[in-house]
Amino acid sequence: METPEIKEVPNLPKALSLEEKKYLLAVERGDMANVRRILERAQHFNIPNINCVDSLGRNALTLAIDGENLEMVELLVVMGVETKDALLHSINVEFVEAVELLLDHEELIHKDGEPYSWQRVNLSTASFTPDITPLILAAHRNNYEILKLLLDRGATLPMPHDIKCGCEECLRESKEDSLRHSLSRVNEYKALASPSLIALSSGDPILTAFQLSWELRNLAFAEPECKSEYLELRKQCQQFAVDLLHQSRTSEELAVILNHDPDKPSYEVGEQMTLARLELAITYKQKKFVAHPNIQQLLAALWYEGVPGFRRKSSIRKFFIISKRRNLEEKERDYRYSSVVRALIWRYVSSMHRKCEESSVTEEDINEVKSDISAFRYEMLEILNKNGMDVSCAEKKEKAILGKKMKVWERRLMKDFKVAPINSEEMEKFIYVTAPENEDSLAR
Ligand SMILES: [Zn+2]
Repeated sequence: METPEIKEVPNLPKALSLEEKKYLLAVERGDMANVRRILERAQHFNIPNINCVDSLGRNALTLAIDGENLEMVELLVVMGVETKDALLHSINVEFVEAVELLLDHEELIHKDGEPYSWQRVNLSTASFTPDITPLILAAHRNNYEILKLLLDRGATLPMPHDIKCGCEECLRESKEDSLRHSLSRVNEYKALASPSLIALSSGDPILTAFQLSWELRNLAFAEPECKSEYLELRKQCQQFAVDLLHQSRTSEELAVILNHDPDKPSYEVGEQMTLARLELAITYKQKKFVAHPNIQQLLAALWYEGVPGFRRKSSIRKFFIISKRRNLEEKERDYRYSSVVRALIWRYVSSMHRKCEESSVTEEDINEVKSDISAFRYEMLEILNKNGMDVSCAEKKEKAILGKKMKVWERRLMKDFKVAPINSEEMEKFIYVTAPENEDSLAR
């Protein structure tokens, strides 16, 4: 029989065996002892498949990450479950400890010149598109801690090519798939516009925010199909500069920021204000920055001082200040500015963290507590069992305390929930004819 020619058959999740279901259930419920037993058995008999996935494509590691169960993640990794894109999943749910563990593991197993674990996933069922790197995803989540982890380990910033770039790579990519090409550019800019990433990677975050917001404005006009995304990112950059400015506490700090000019010595109290940075803000059309109350207050003070204060200073004193400056080292020039900026960043980041901690209890938090209790229950049962007590009645009742999310998932798992629509017979024949050999267990 002649088989129709298809480039790629999506490798959709196969139906699970009962053993595999029990394995995933034990992982999700945090039943460490049982999972360890199942994994040990799988090492000898290859049953169940420890890398099996549920109907939504989640494997044991993804479930352990979703349940924020670090011990379970560690057990699964140590026992040889393929990590695949688990790192991206843990970044996505901002599970910092798991990110660290998976990074350590990746460093152990990765060989130079070969793709990383998260790049070796089936494209048609992967949760993340191939242009999403760990750093880009962490920047999208704007997670300072994870970004720092990745940068410390040598992750590099995305460098989007110019929109009119005619390099071989750009030509090939836009020819292959122009939509993907422009979406991946949006993804790169979305990462670069992350306040946490700017704060961590730029020596002059205010300037970076100005320049990036200008670039994003131009992109919005150059790529009308992604206009709203770019304008949204532009707003985000502008807001970041405003938030940093908002952290300035004294007139002196404010003056150092607003008078900063990288080509000139830093501002000293009492001297002429050039307001170079403010001028730059106007050039880059940073309306909210210029309109900030701190700046308005400073401008008003300058005005009332008798326009402007520095003119009253004698020229001899001015000369004295300038000649004193000439002796300063190049590096010391920016010292004041960068120390003020560092203070602003520190306050900005710590206030963000405080805001996060102050947020009220969510359903997500309750679910977390419930899965902790569930894991603890199994631990207790295991201890009692090991000490020769009869725990059979407790296990039979299955009175696990489950969150809503877990209940829904368990029901679907046990009832063989499927994502794919019901196939017509024609379609089914087609799939079976073209599917690779190892797909014969695909459920009808
Ligand atoms: Zn290019």
